[in-house]
Amino acid sequence: MSIHHAIGDKSVAAFDRARKLMPGGVNSPARAFGAVGGSPLFIDHAKGPYLFDIDGRQFVDYIGSWGPMILGHQHPAVIEAVTKAVHRGTSYGAPTEAESKLAEQVIEAVPSVEKVRLVNSGTEATMSAIRVARGATGRNKIIKFSGNYHGHVDSLLVAAGSAAATLGVPDSPGVTPGAGGDTIVLAYNDVNQLAAAFDQHAGEIAAVILEPVVGNMGCVPPSQEFLNALRTVTTKDGAILIFDEVMTGFRLAFGGAQELFGVTPDMTTLGKIVGGGMPLGAYGGRADIMDNVLPAGKVFQAGTLSGNPVAVAAGSATLQLLKDQPPYEYLEAMGERLATGIDQAASDAGIDHVVQRVGSMMTLFFNPDLVTNWDQADRCNRDAYAEYFWAMIGEGIYLPCSQFEALFFGNAHTEALIDQTVEAARKVLPDLE
Ligand code: PLP
Repeated sequence: MSIHHAIGDKSVAAFDRARKLMPGGVNSPARAFGAVGGSPLFIDHAKGPYLFDIDGRQFVDYIGSWGPMILGHQHPAVIEAVTKAVHRGTSYGAPTEAESKLAEQVIEAVPSVEKVRLVNSGTEATMSAIRVARGATGRNKIIKFSGNYHGHVDSLLVAAGSAAATLGVPDSPGVTPGAGGDTIVLAYNDVNQLAAAFDQHAGEIAAVILEPVVGNMGCVPPSQEFLNALRTVTTKDGAILIFDEVMTGFRLAFGGAQELFGVTPDMTTLGKIVGGGMPLGAYGGRADIMDNVLPAGKVFQAGTLSGNPVAVAAGSATLQLLKDQPPYEYLEAMGERLATGIDQAASDAGIDHVVQRVGSMMTLFFNPDLVTNWDQADRCNRDAYAEYFWAMIGEGIYLPCSQFEALFFGNAHTEALIDQTVEAARKVLPDLE
């Protein structure tokens, strides 16, 4: 299946127009499909587990807006909450009770969060958390892990994953040596490197930030030993441990990866699901750390639209549904079914591969070995992934447009849809060159 057969005429025309108006034709780089030979489908609308493009075709959606849509598109309770909120006004720039309700929901769900602040995106959440950690400790250096992506924060756009890695700019032009110079980059899952870094920089590290399950170099789980070592070494040194749960929060468990793995960080960043498909992020943590934020403390962070009533309504309704009807057992069962099916299909097709999954995050790596860090992810066969991607589009299955992005599904994905996806993979994998 070449891309010319997979993309409708209207999408081609829409992209031609958009490229004249926006850099690369998009408002976020991965959407341009550059990693798979580039020309995106333009979306008309979405419902439940499906996306509908402007050429009138239907796709099973395994991106879910890159994570937020765990309940499926247009969930009636979320739409109702948003509609009600809109009719009361779209922004006040003043406190509302709804913000406290969402804060209570987050604090109740996420073990590490005693106090929380609402922001507008995951990027704002991680940027702010780093500033607070530096302000609280009086230290400058931070540790991150290669292939982990934390949004487009200058100090974190160093050896970054996601579209930054996919498109060949893990260290973006425009990030000055000053902005990136206090960032120490280590290999994910490497306990020895971690210990050595703390030996070398004892008392200098403000924070360690990581994706507790990585989605941004494909799905890469942490070893329990790695998470335990992170907790021990940061506690001993007085550094702040930040779990970036923008992707994993409310997805792997109601309390996120920290609940699943039983390791509680000092701070947590959230985005995606917490906003129920609207622009909303959050950062929180121990009360004594969060009380450094202005006006309780002196670390500055603010936002005209922070705590926006419409976004808060969507997030609050989403978290309520996830609490009242937890989908996590169902997602685990469907994940197991999808992973087993795709794994078998790839084996039967004689393809070197490994399927990695945690809950409803998963990646088929075109690589024979387990992927535990970025160096291993980087060895995957990206061309094979691109071929697989387009062939699946041809079968009506919308996967992430990069080997280095995990797929997501939600509780609108029925068993029949999971089986349909496996059947599609069975059909296309034997034909990959
Ligand atoms: N952190 C992680 C783990 C992410 O996956 C992302 C986005 O994909 C971000 C932070 C940035 O979030 P946003 O795109 O909302 O700024």
